[in-house]
Amino acid sequence: MYDFKIKNMGKFDVAVCGGGVAGVGAAISAARNGSSVVLIESTGALGGTATSGLMGNIIDGVNKGGLIKEWQDFLVSHSLSLAHVGKRYDESGQPVPGRLVDHEASKYFFEKVCVEAGVRVLFNSMLVGADVENCHIQRVMISTLCGNYEISADIFVDATGYGTLSELAGLKWDIGTPPNPASMSITLGGFPEDFNGNDTVEEKTAYGKMLKENGINVSSEQASLKRMPGASTWIMGYNFEYDVYPDNIVRFSDAILNSRKEGFETIQSHKKLKGYEKLHIQSTSSYFGLREGRRIYGKYRLTDEDIIEGKRFEDGICLVTAGVDVHKLNSTDTTECSRGVKSKPYHIPYRCLVPEGCDNMLLAGRCISGDFYPFASYRMIGNMTTVGEAAGYAASICSKENVTPEKLDGKIVSKYIRSRGHEL
Ligand SMILES: Cc1cc2nc3c(=O)[nH]c(=O)nc-3n(C[C@H](O)[C@H](O)[C@H](O)COP(=O)(O)OP(=O)(O)OC[C@H]3O[C@@H](n4cnc5c(N)ncnc54)[C@H](O)[C@@H]3O)c2cc1C
Repeated sequence: MYDFKIKNMGKFDVAVCGGGVAGVGAAISAARNGSSVVLIESTGALGGTATSGLMGNIIDGVNKGGLIKEWQDFLVSHSLSLAHVGKRYDESGQPVPGRLVDHEASKYFFEKVCVEAGVRVLFNSMLVGADVENCHIQRVMISTLCGNYEISADIFVDATGYGTLSELAGLKWDIGTPPNPASMSITLGGFPEDFNGNDTVEEKTAYGKMLKENGINVSSEQASLKRMPGASTWIMGYNFEYDVYPDNIVRFSDAILNSRKEGFETIQSHKKLKGYEKLHIQSTSSYFGLREGRRIYGKYRLTDEDIIEGKRFEDGICLVTAGVDVHKLNSTDTTECSRGVKSKPYHIPYRCLVPEGCDNMLLAGRCISGDFYPFASYRMIGNMTTVGEAAGYAASICSKENVTPEKLDGKIVSKYIRSRGHEL
C-alpha cells in the first residue's frame, strides 16, 4: 500500500491545470474578474509550447486584442518582437515588430501578468489525479517537487494541452489516427548575419533540398529557419516524429531522444558547409512539441463543414482565420497541408469549451471539442490564447453565480471577448 502523504492546499474559486498560453489566458481573466485562482504548471515556466517549446511565432494574432495584444505591446516596448517576413530591421538596426517573439521575455511577461492579477502560480506541479463524484470534480491531486497536494475548486479548467484533466475525469475524447507529427525546435547561433531565415513552404523545402544535396537529411524534409528578435538567434524546425500519442510515455520519450540526436547530428554536419562554420545549438526545447493532444467531446463539436462554410455562432468566442495545416502523417506522405479542406474565417463557439460528462470543468487550448481538420486550423497560438481567456472568464462567472458551465449563456462570454478588443 502506497502512502502518498497528501497535503491540503485549500480551496480556490478556479483551478487552472496547465500554464501554456491557454492556461495563462484562463488564469488572468478569471483573477481579473475577482476570482481566487490557482495555476498548476508541470514545468518551471509559463507559456508551454510558445515558450519552453521554442515556438514563438504567433499565428492568428492579428485580429486579436486581449492578452495577445498585451503580450505583443510588452515585447514591442522592449524591442523583442520581430516581423516574420520582409524587412526585419530598420535603418537604425531596431527590429521591425511582428509575430516572432522572444521566448525568455515571454516567460517573464506571463509570470508578470499572473502575479499582477493575483494568480497563485505553482511550478513543477504535475496534475496526477481527479476525485470525481456524479460528474463533478471534488478535488485534484498534484505531485510537486515539494510533495503531493490536493486542491479543491468550484470550477476546474483543463488547459494541459493533452486533455489530461478530462482523461482523469473519465471523459470521451478523440485524436488523429495517425496524429500530426511531433517535433522538437532548436535555437541556433552562428548563421551569417545577413541570413534572414525563410518562411514560405517553397523556401523551407529549398533549404531542406540544399541540405540533402550536401548529404544532410532532415526528417521533415524541410528546414524552417526563423530569425528571432535579439542579436543572432534563429529557430530551426527540422524534424518529425510520427505516431506520438499523449498516453504512451515510452514512445513519447523515444521521440525526444531521436529528435535531440537528429538536431545535434544535423548541426554538426551543417557547420561543415562553407559559410556556416560558426553554427551552434543554443538550446533545444525543454517542452516537446506534441502538435495534437486529446480533443475532448463537448456540447458542440466543430466540424469540417463549419470551417469550410465559415460558420458564425451567437456564442462565438474566437474568430479563426488560419487555414488547415496538416503535416506529413508518415515518412512517405506527400499530401499538401490543407488536404483539400479550405476554411473561411469561422467562430469557435463557447459550447466547444464545455465538456460532456463533467458539470464543473471548462476546456481551454488544444483540447477543446473539434474534429481533426478544424483542430489543424484553430490550434494556433493567437486562437488558443483567446480561447483561454474565454474559458477563464466563464469559469469565474460560474463560480460567482453558482451556475454550471453548461447553463451559462455563452453570449455573455462572447460579449466579454469583444470587450477585450478581439475581432469576432
Ligand atoms: C512543433 C510545433 C510547431 C508549432 N508551430 C506553430 C506556429 O508556428 N505558430 C502558431 O501560432 N502555433 C504553432 N503551433 C501550435 C501552438 O504552439 C500550440 O497549439 C499552442 O501553443 C497550444 O497552447 P496550449 O496552451 O493549449 O497548450 P501547451 O502549449 O501544450 O501548454 C500546456 C501546458 O500545460 C502543462 N501541462 C501539461 N500537462 C500537465 C499536467 N498534467 N499538470 C500540470 N501541467 C501540465 C504543460 O507543461 C504546458 O505548459 C505549433 C505547435 C507545435 C507542437
